[in-house]
Amino acid sequence: MGLMHNYARLPVAFVHGEGVWLQDSDGRRYLDALAGIAVCGLGHSHPAVTRALQEQAGRLLHTSNLYRIPAQEWLAETLCTISGLDGAFFCNSGAEANEAAIKIARLHGHAKGIAEPRILVFSNAFHGRTMATLTATGNFKIQAGFAPLLPGFLRAPYGDLATAQALVQANPDLCAILVEPIQGEGGVRPAPEGFLAGLRALCNDADILLMLDEVQTGIGRTGQFFAYQQLPGFLPDVLSLAKGLGNGVPIGAMLANARVAALFSPGKHGTTFGGGPLVCAVAQAVLDTMQQEAIPAHAARMGAILRRKLRERLAAHHQVVDIRGMGLMVGIELRDKPEGLVERALEKALLINVTAERVIRLLPPLIIQEGEIDLLVEGLVELLRERA
Ligand SMILES: *Cc1c(COP(=O)(O)O)cnc(C)c1O
Repeated sequence: MGLMHNYARLPVAFVHGEGVWLQDSDGRRYLDALAGIAVCGLGHSHPAVTRALQEQAGRLLHTSNLYRIPAQEWLAETLCTISGLDGAFFCNSGAEANEAAIKIARLHGHAKGIAEPRILVFSNAFHGRTMATLTATGNFKIQAGFAPLLPGFLRAPYGDLATAQALVQANPDLCAILVEPIQGEGGVRPAPEGFLAGLRALCNDADILLMLDEVQTGIGRTGQFFAYQQLPGFLPDVLSLAKGLGNGVPIGAMLANARVAALFSPGKHGTTFGGGPLVCAVAQAVLDTMQQEAIPAHAARMGAILRRKLRERLAAHHQVVDIRGMGLMVGIELRDKPEGLVERALEKALLINVTAERVIRLLPPLIIQEGEIDLLVEGLVELLRERA
C-alpha cells in the first residue's frame, strides 16, 4: 500500500528552501542546479511569491471559469504584452498546454477544410505524457507500452529543414508544426541556426501554424522572456508555457495570435482548475518580479559566465564532448553514460540532472549569483575528476 513506483526517486527529501539552496530533513544544505526541472526560476521562498500566495490564499482560492476571474484576465494581458501574441488559455501543466495547442491546430485544419489534419513534430522531442503529447514526443521509451498512439502526427529529424520542407510540400493535410526552440529532455539541443526562421517561412507559405513548445525554455530561462525573442522579428502562431510560469504552483498556458485564438469559441475547450485566482496571482507576481528585476537579462549574463567557466575547466576532460545551451539552460554532453553521477553529486550536496542518457543538464534558479556559479562549476569539476 502506498505510492506507485512510477518515479525512480533519489533517497533524499527536502524540507526547506531559500534562493538556490535546499535543506534536507537532517539540516544539510544542497546547491540546487535544477530548480525543480526549470520551475523555480526565482528560487525557493522568494518573498514576492510567498506574499502573493499568502495574500490570495486569505482572500479567495477558487471560483470557476463559469465566472470572470480578474487575476486571469490581468495575467493574460501581461503574457500577451510580453510575448506579442493576442490570446491566452490557462491550464495546469505543460502537457495540457500542448494538448490545447494540438486541439487548436486541429480546429485550424478543419477550418481550412482538411478532414483529418496532421501535425509535424520532431525526433527527440518532448511534449508531455498525456496520450496526445506522448504521441507527439519523439522518444520510443516514453511511448513503449502505450499503443495505440494517436493518429495525426508526422515526424522529421530535429534541425533538418530540408526534410521538414519536403514533408510540408508533400502533405497538404498538415495543419501545424510543433517544435521546441531548444530540446530540453532531448539533451539540451538548441535548434541549429536558421531552423526556426526556416520553419516560420514554411508555415507562412503553407498557411499552417508554427507552434513553439516553450514549457522548459520560457519565462526567462534562455536569457529572454521567451527563447524565440533571440530571433529578430520572429513570432510563433501558438506558444505553450508552464514550468517557470508559477515558480512552483501548477499553471500552464497556451497563447496564440488573434486569428488562431478566435478558434477557441465558447465550448471548444475548458478545465475546472485552469487559471484559478490563486495560481494566476502567483504567476502575475512571478512575471512582475522578473520584469522589475530584469531577471531574463541576469540569466543571460550568468549563463554566459557559467558556460565560459565550464569550458575553461572541463573542455579538455576526455569525457566531455560538448558544452552548450542558452542562458541558464546548459548541457554538458559526455562520451559515456555517467553511471551513478547524479547520486554521487547528491552525496556532495549538489543537485544536477542527466537527460538523454549522457547529457548533464543544469537548470539553476535564474537568480543565481556568480559565487554560487563558482561553487557549481567546482562541484562538477570534482565530480568529473573522479571519473578521469
Ligand atoms: C516538461 C515539459 C513538458 C511537460 O510538462 P508537464 O508540466 O510535465 O506536463 C512539455 N514540453 C516540454 C518542452 C517540457 O520540458
